[in-house]
Amino acid sequence: MKKKIVIVGAGPAGIFTALELLDKMPDSEITIFEKGRSITKRVCPKRTTGECVHCEPCNITTGFSGAGAFSDGKLSLSPYVGGLDQYVEEKHLQELIDYTYSRYYETFGADSKTYGTENMEMISDLKLKAIQANLRLIDYPLKHLGTEQAYEVYSRIQQYLEEKGVSLLFETKVDDIFVDKGRVGGVIIHETEKIPADNVIITVGREGSEWFQGLCRKQGIRTAVNPVDVGVRIEVKDEIMAKINEFLYEGKLVYYTDTYDDKVRTFCQNPSGFVAVEHYENGLATVNGHSYKNTKSKNTNFALLVSNQFDYPFHEPIEYGKKVAALGNMLADGKILVQRFGDFIRGRRTTRERLKRGNITPTMQDAEPGDLGHAIPYRTMLNIKETILALDKLIPGLASDETLMYGVEVKFYSNKVDVTQDFETNIARLYAGGDGAGLTRGLMHASVNGIMIARAIARREKIDK
Ligand SMILES: Cc1cc2nc3c(=O)[nH]c(=O)nc-3n(C[C@H](O)[C@H](O)[C@H](O)COP(=O)(O)OP(=O)(O)OC[C@H]3O[C@@H](n4cnc5c(N)ncnc54)[C@H](O)[C@@H]3O)c2cc1C
Repeated sequence: MKKKIVIVGAGPAGIFTALELLDKMPDSEITIFEKGRSITKRVCPKRTTGECVHCEPCNITTGFSGAGAFSDGKLSLSPYVGGLDQYVEEKHLQELIDYTYSRYYETFGADSKTYGTENMEMISDLKLKAIQANLRLIDYPLKHLGTEQAYEVYSRIQQYLEEKGVSLLFETKVDDIFVDKGRVGGVIIHETEKIPADNVIITVGREGSEWFQGLCRKQGIRTAVNPVDVGVRIEVKDEIMAKINEFLYEGKLVYYTDTYDDKVRTFCQNPSGFVAVEHYENGLATVNGHSYKNTKSKNTNFALLVSNQFDYPFHEPIEYGKKVAALGNMLADGKILVQRFGDFIRGRRTTRERLKRGNITPTMQDAEPGDLGHAIPYRTMLNIKETILALDKLIPGLASDETLMYGVEVKFYSNKVDVTQDFETNIARLYAGGDGAGLTRGLMHASVNGIMIARAIARREKIDK
């Protein structure tokens, strides 16, 4: 009899599980439930009108290929950037990354060019300057599809899955699972409709992490508390970031702050890019950024994120991050706040007039000038200030008055599910993967995670035969 496999969520983790299952278990019956739309129907009105109309669910974060469809399509080729190094040994993980790119991404039309591997002399010089400023510079090779090519690649994957007989059920949210004697029996949709399955894989992304957390509580799925990263998105003229953009493309920098010894990292650098808004359920708006292959701005943006690890008795880091972001939204009339670094240092709000003083034009035009200090906790703001001052030694001009800080950027990785090396939860045949399980951060590791889950299921089913 054909094995029934249900995947919840059609982000990279879910779709790469399906792709590899087609290869390793061609006789299985695969169904993907996705609460968002087909990739062909995913349209963000803000891209043409400049105005967010709060689509429900958000077309940027839900639908086929999840948060990947309109992402910047930057694929890290490093085992150490993306989270899976905690579960997989380096050499094997590198093989999996190379396999995922060549076997799938390239086959579906992704570029073969690798960034960040040339100019080793200049990179060494940057590393030296980073050491002198007490910063750690992590350089790594990456592929850059850009938003347009990422969209095309994922569109081809959707078409392929459909042609191969995978059932893709869009605009269908999974509400629950059902369990029989410690083993998963299937999923529940439309509140009461039971869909039986031999194996269930939950890959719901950051957007679905709150739902997943509730499911874990209800069904007794074991979890650990993850940190939540809170911070701002920095935007400067391309000239300021020229060296890092040219020689590293994406430089990841880590700083341990002077006052609190907290870890602050740079994340998701977009040369000539655009600052973007990301919407969650209930209209919560957080900041993100992306860049296009063909449409360029004159600014570079990147996130500065402070890790907040909570301890007993507090174990609701997602709620914490949401409350901080909600405060920012409240002060900005539901939008994103923007403040100049110079105003922040002087303890005053940014006004429209002050915003016009510098050389830089904000790429997020509807951001509201204001005071981030009213929304973001003192400890986080001080960490950000100390990090910008340290970064200024490596990137002269970063601590200029005109540098823009958009808030609030939050990375929710909080519901870290306890899984085996095969990514199986304590409920037999229930697997968890991707960003929503707190296991990965980013497109490549989420995709690799899908491949690994598919292989684990194929191995297990073979043994059971
Ligand atoms: C604007 C933006 C830019 C980004 N740029 C980059 C980048 O350049 N490089 C990079 O590596 N990463 C980037 N990321 C992050 C990257 O997109 C994610 O890390 C990646 O998509 C995670 O994959 P995933 O499969 O775990 O989850 P997701 O891609 O989030 O997919 C999860 C899917 O599950 C669905 N879902 C949730 N709950 C349910 C439910 N109950 N029932 C059914 N379906 C459900 C959601 O609708 C969603 O489609 C970006 C993200 C954003 C938002």
